Amino acid sequence: MRRYQKQTGELKQVICNCCGRELNVDQGILKEGACHLEPRWGYFSGKDMEKHSFDLCEACYDKIISGFSVPVDVTEETEFFPMEDGETE
Ligand SMILES: [Zn+2]
Repeated sequence: MRRYQKQTGELKQVICNCCGRELNVDQGILKEGACHLEPRWGYFSGKDMEKHSFDLCEACYDKIISGFSVPVDVTEETEFFPMEDGETE
């Protein structure tokens, strides 16, 4: 879960939706690994046209993917483009 400053759009707070831990945000920048997901559910789902959004800390992410029957695909990125933290929902 992410909270932004209303006036500036600056990232204020990131909370892991799984364990409830507040992640380290310093001056609008998230300073630790996190997984931000925004699944959009279409007409053929049971959540007709809902958009969800949540954040997972790295520990919760690791715990969840370790339960997968098929492991996640892992590739190396040559450049890292962090998410636009000023982006509002
Ligand atoms: Zn967590």
